[in-house]
Amino acid sequence: MRPSRSRHPPARPKEATLSTVTAPARFALFPLRVARTTALTPHLVRITLTGESLTGFVNGGLDQRIKLLLPLPGQSEPVIPPGDGEFGWYHSWREMPLDERPVLRTYTVRGQRHDPDEIDIDIAVHGDLGPGSAWAAKAAPGDRVVVYGPAVEQAGGVEFRLPAGADWLLLAGDESALPAIAAILEDLPEGLPVRVFAEVDGPEEEGYLPAGRPDSETVWLHRRDGAPSLPEAVGAAALPDGEPYAWIAGEASAVREIRRHLVRERGMDRRAVCFMGYWRAGSSEDQRAEDGAGDDTGD
Ligand SMILES: Cc1cc2nc3c(=O)[nH]c(=O)nc-3n(C[C@H](O)[C@H](O)[C@H](O)COP(=O)(O)OP(=O)(O)OC[C@H]3O[C@@H](n4cnc5c(N)ncnc54)[C@H](O)[C@@H]3O)c2cc1C
Repeated sequence: MRPSRSRHPPARPKEATLSTVTAPARFALFPLRVARTTALTPHLVRITLTGESLTGFVNGGLDQRIKLLLPLPGQSEPVIPPGDGEFGWYHSWREMPLDERPVLRTYTVRGQRHDPDEIDIDIAVHGDLGPGSAWAAKAAPGDRVVVYGPAVEQAGGVEFRLPAGADWLLLAGDESALPAIAAILEDLPEGLPVRVFAEVDGPEEEGYLPAGRPDSETVWLHRRDGAPSLPEAVGAAALPDGEPYAWIAGEASAVREIRRHLVRERGMDRRAVCFMGYWRAGSSEDQRAEDGAGDDTGD
């Protein structure tokens, strides 16, 4: 007997909502293997992936999202769901028996290189609670995964869009958002003032972000030492004058609280506040997908 399935109609991955399917497909499945892993901090591990299929991978940069398909325990590689068209695989993934269906988790592309073709994904290791975190903690060279990622220029799945008229930038997030924050910081025009608020386990995580932007100021909040939460810290901060742009990601309720504060109490234009719940306390990504929560982007 096949395990029971959701009574909800299949939700599409985020990218499917951006436009109708066009040819060539904007996103594709890339079978890859782990080239190496690097412990960057106690809670962030870099997984470097390689494979011939990467020649067709087109990183949109900044906060480019991808889906990682991971093997189940006992499988040597994830079973690739069959399917035609850009999202056909996702419908067949939903229909797969649970004892075969790969784990699906969302991450950010931290970097891409050529010769040899490689991409980096930096994963927050938050204990053995989730299969994504557990996989990252034990990943080893040769391990096989599949990435669902961008296959053409401007494929979508990038949310950070700095308006031309922004006078300063606010970035806020926890470990899950640091890969995107790092990529954004590396790409910013010189002279743009940036305020970063980063909630992490402890001071050992601070080395993750690139240093050396003279106009950037980072407030580190060490959870372990009872620091104020991300919303409390942003709420209490003296912020620069002028037109801001804000990018906030991390635990969904903290993200929503900060966004509400910026719009209601600081009077920021809601269109200038980009916010994404990257994970939710007490819920797995599967549960959130069943609830249709996606990444909680939007109102
Ligand atoms: C667009 C987007 C980009 C993302 N980019 C990254 C990225 O680059 N790096 C990254 O590490 N994460 C990233 N995330 C977050 C990641 O998808 C989630 O953290 C995901 O839930 C991890 O899966 P899991 O299997 O480890 O845990 P799940 O099985 O999903 O959850 C199991 C339990 O762990 C808790 N949990 C989940 N994530 C965290 C966390 N970060 N810290 C503490 N507890 C947690 C849940 O509340 C739940 O109780 C991104 C999410 C989105 C939507």
